[in-house]
Amino acid sequence: MAQAVNRYKADLREIEFVLFEQLKLQELLGKPPFEQWGEEEVRMVLPEVYRFATEVSGPINQIGDQEGCKLVDGHVKTPTGFKEAWKRFNEAGWGGLSVDAAHGGQGAPRTLGSVANELISGSNTSFQMYGGLTIGAAELIMSFGTDEQRHLYVPKMLEGQFGGTMCLTEPHAGSDVGDCNTSAVKNADGTYRIKGTKIFISGGDHDLADNIVHMVLARIEGAPKGTKGLSLFIVPKRWVKPDGTLGDFNDVITASIEHKMGICASSTCVLNFGENDACRGYLCGTLEHQGIAQMFQMMNGARILVGVQGVAAASSAYLNALEYAKERKQGSSIAAMKDPNAPRVPIIQHPDVRRMLLDMKSRVEGIRLLGLTLTSHLDRASVLAKSDPDRAAYHRGQVDLLTPIFKSYATDQGFQVAATAIQTYGGAGFLKDHPAEQYCRDAKIFSIYEGTNHIQALDLVGRKLRQQGGKPALDFFGEVARFIETHASHPRLASGIEELRKAHAAAGQVFGKLMEWGKAGAVDLTSLTANRVLELMAELTVGWLLLEGATIAHERLSELSEGQPDYAFYVGKCHAALFYALNTLPGVSSKVEIIARADRSAVEIPEEAFATV
Ligand SMILES: Cc1cc2nc3c(=O)[nH]c(=O)nc-3n(C[C@H](O)[C@H](O)[C@H](O)COP(=O)(O)OP(=O)(O)OC[C@H]3O[C@@H](n4cnc5c(N)ncnc54)[C@H](O)[C@@H]3O)c2cc1C
Repeated sequence: MAQAVNRYKADLREIEFVLFEQLKLQELLGKPPFEQWGEEEVRMVLPEVYRFATEVSGPINQIGDQEGCKLVDGHVKTPTGFKEAWKRFNEAGWGGLSVDAAHGGQGAPRTLGSVANELISGSNTSFQMYGGLTIGAAELIMSFGTDEQRHLYVPKMLEGQFGGTMCLTEPHAGSDVGDCNTSAVKNADGTYRIKGTKIFISGGDHDLADNIVHMVLARIEGAPKGTKGLSLFIVPKRWVKPDGTLGDFNDVITASIEHKMGICASSTCVLNFGENDACRGYLCGTLEHQGIAQMFQMMNGARILVGVQGVAAASSAYLNALEYAKERKQGSSIAAMKDPNAPRVPIIQHPDVRRMLLDMKSRVEGIRLLGLTLTSHLDRASVLAKSDPDRAAYHRGQVDLLTPIFKSYATDQGFQVAATAIQTYGGAGFLKDHPAEQYCRDAKIFSIYEGTNHIQALDLVGRKLRQQGGKPALDFFGEVARFIETHASHPRLASGIEELRKAHAAAGQVFGKLMEWGKAGAVDLTSLTANRVLELMAELTVGWLLLEGATIAHERLSELSEGQPDYAFYVGKCHAALFYALNTLPGVSSKVEIIARADRSAVEIPEEAFATV
C-alpha cells in the first residue's frame, strides 16, 4: 500500500510571471468586482494553496489511486484521508475562491481561481473534482435558481456540507445529450417526479458531505424531442426541509460505481432516479425547457476546468521527470561516446533527453498561458461590463472562441506530456515508484469527458469561428498580426516570429475552405478536418502567447546579469518560446495543406474493409 508521500511539484515563479508580467492581472485588482483583491492578497494566496496541495491533497494522491472508491451497502466510501482533506479544503474556503462575494464566495478573479484549481488538481485530480463539481452546481443555482433555492442550497454547497454533480449522460445518450430519456412529471405541490438512469456521474455519491445536490437534465412530459425539450432540475440525495435540516432520502439509488484506468479516487456512479417512483426534484428557477442553455453555464466552466486538469498533470509530470533527469546517471556524454573510461553523466546531458525536457517545458508553459489568457478575458469582461460594454463584448467573444481550443489542446497535450515524461525516465517511468504513470492514466479521461475533443472541434468550426459573423476570430487574427508586425525584427526572437508569420498566413486560408464546404453542404469534410483545424488554431495561439512572453523575458534580461536569480528563469522562457516556434509552428502550414486536400478516405472506405475478422 502506498505511503502518504507528496509527489506533486509546481513552478510558482512561472505562474507569477504569467499572472503579473504577461497578463497584468494587477490592472484589474482593486476594481469592481475585484475591489477586495490587491496584488499582495493574490501573491499571498498562491503559496497557501500550494501548501494545501503539497501537504494535504498531494500526499493522498497515490493512496487514492490504489484504494479507489468502494460501494458499501449502497453508499460510496472514498479512500483513506479524503474526508480530512475535504474538511481542510472547505475550512480554507478554496472552493469558493472566485465565487461571487454576493453569494458567499471570496470574489477573487477567475484567473486566480484557475491557478488554485491547477495546484489542487495537479496534486490530486480525483480530490479536486469533488470540489469543482460542487462549485459548478452551486453557481448554476446562483444564476438560475429561485431565491428560496439559493437560500436552501448555495451556502451549504460553498461550505462543503453538500456536494454537487452534473447529470447529463445516460446509457444511450453520451455525446448526443438531446437523446436524454429521463422524465419529469409535475406533482400537485409544484415539484416534479423524476425517473431515469444517469451514468458516469462524477461525485454521484460519496461520504465527504452530508448531502449531494444533483443538477439533472430531464424531459417534462410532452416536451419536444432533442436538447430544446430538456429542463434543469435540482434533485437532492436527501430532501432539505424549509428550515435547512435534512429530511428523507429522495430515491436516488447508486446502482454501481465504475472501475477505471485513472482518477480512481473520484467516484463515477450509475444513478437510478425514481427506482421506487419516489424521487422528487425542483425545476431550477421557474422556466421549463431552458435546461440545455442553463446547463451550458456549468459545461463551459467545466470545460475550462478540464483544460486546467490537463495543464496540472502535464506540469507536475514534467517537473518530476526533470528532477529525475538531473539525478539519473547513464552513459557518457556524446562528446566522449567512444571513450570507455569516460565518466557516466546525468541523462539530462544527452541531447534527446534535453529535447524531451524542452518540448515538455514549452508545452506546459504554452497550455497554462492559453488557459490563463482565457480566464483573463473573463475577468476583463467582468471589470469592463459597465464602463465599456463594447470592450467587454470583445473579451467575451475571445472567451467563447478560446474555450473549445483550450479544452481540447490542453487535454491532448496533458496526456502527451505525461507520456513524454514516462519516456524521459526510461523503465523507471513505467513503475508506480514514480508519479508519471499515474499522471498519464489520470490524464486520459480529460480528452473524453465534458464533450469529447472532437465535439469541441465541431463546436469550434461549426459555431465559434462563425459567431457574430466571425468577429471574435477576426479580432484574434488581428491581434496576432499586430504582434508579428511589432516584433518582426526582434534581436533574439526574429526566427520564431517569422515562423509565427507563416503559421498566421497559412491558418487564415482555412476559413475559405470551411466556407466553401459549408456552401457545398460537404459536412463530412468539415467533420473530417475539424480536429486538425482546432489543433492548428491552438498551435498558432500558443506560439503567439509564448513568443509574447519571451519578448517580456528578453526585456527583463537586459536589466539583469548572469548570476542573478531570475536570469536563468528568463533565459528559459526565451528558449521555450523559440523551441515551440521552430519545432511546432511549421506544422501549421502542413496541416493547412492536408486540410486543403479534402481527403475523404475515412468516409469512403467500406465498413467491411477496415478488417476482415
Ligand atoms: C470518468 C468519467 C467521468 C464522467 N463524468 C460525467 C459527469 O459527471 N456527468 C455526466 O453527465 N457525464 C459524465 N461523463 C460522461 C462523459 O461526458 C461522456 O463519456 C462523453 O461525453 C462521451 O460520451 P460517450 O461516452 O457516450 O461516448 P459516445 O458519445 O458514444 O462517443 C464515442 C465516440 O464517438 C464519437 N462521436 C459521438 N458522436 C459523434 C458525432 N456526432 N460526430 C462525430 N463523432 C462522434 C466521440 O467523439 C467518441 O470518440 C463521465 C465519463 C467518464 C468516463
